[in-house]
Amino acid sequence: MSDDCLFCNIAAGDIPADKVYEDEQVVVFNDINPKARVHLLVIPRIHLASLEDLKPEHDELTAHMMRLLPKLAREQGLEKGFRTVINTGKGGGQVVFHLHIHLLGGPDLRIF
Ligand code: 5GP
Ligand code: ZN
Repeated sequence: MSDDCLFCNIAAGDIPADKVYEDEQVVVFNDINPKARVHLLVIPRIHLASLEDLKPEHDELTAHMMRLLPKLAREQGLEKGFRTVINTGKGGGQVVFHLHIHLLGGPDLRIF
């Protein structure tokens, strides 16, 4: 855990968030500024700054996060499909430097 990391603090429960799922490896909560009817953030409990930090030792965690996404989407009523986004680095639009997967969906999702 990184004390000055917002998402580490959310994972630890030290900063409140509207959590929808958690287990030993990940925490999932609603984005504070949703870009669609459904906008979740899926984060690992361990501090990884971005995709750049992923190593072979994180393969099981990575697979766990990927396989969780369609389940979460179904639970949110996104039967028609959903979008996932991972911003990486300043050039990729990343603002919070704790790895997170955006899960977006709903009728207001604009297709690009
Ligand atoms: P990034 O641009 O780093 O990929 O996305 C960061 C996301 O975190 C943004 O969509 C932003 O709205 C969300 N966010 C920032 N601060 C908070 C917070 O304190 N609580 C929650 N739930 N989401 C946050
Ligand atoms: Zn962190």
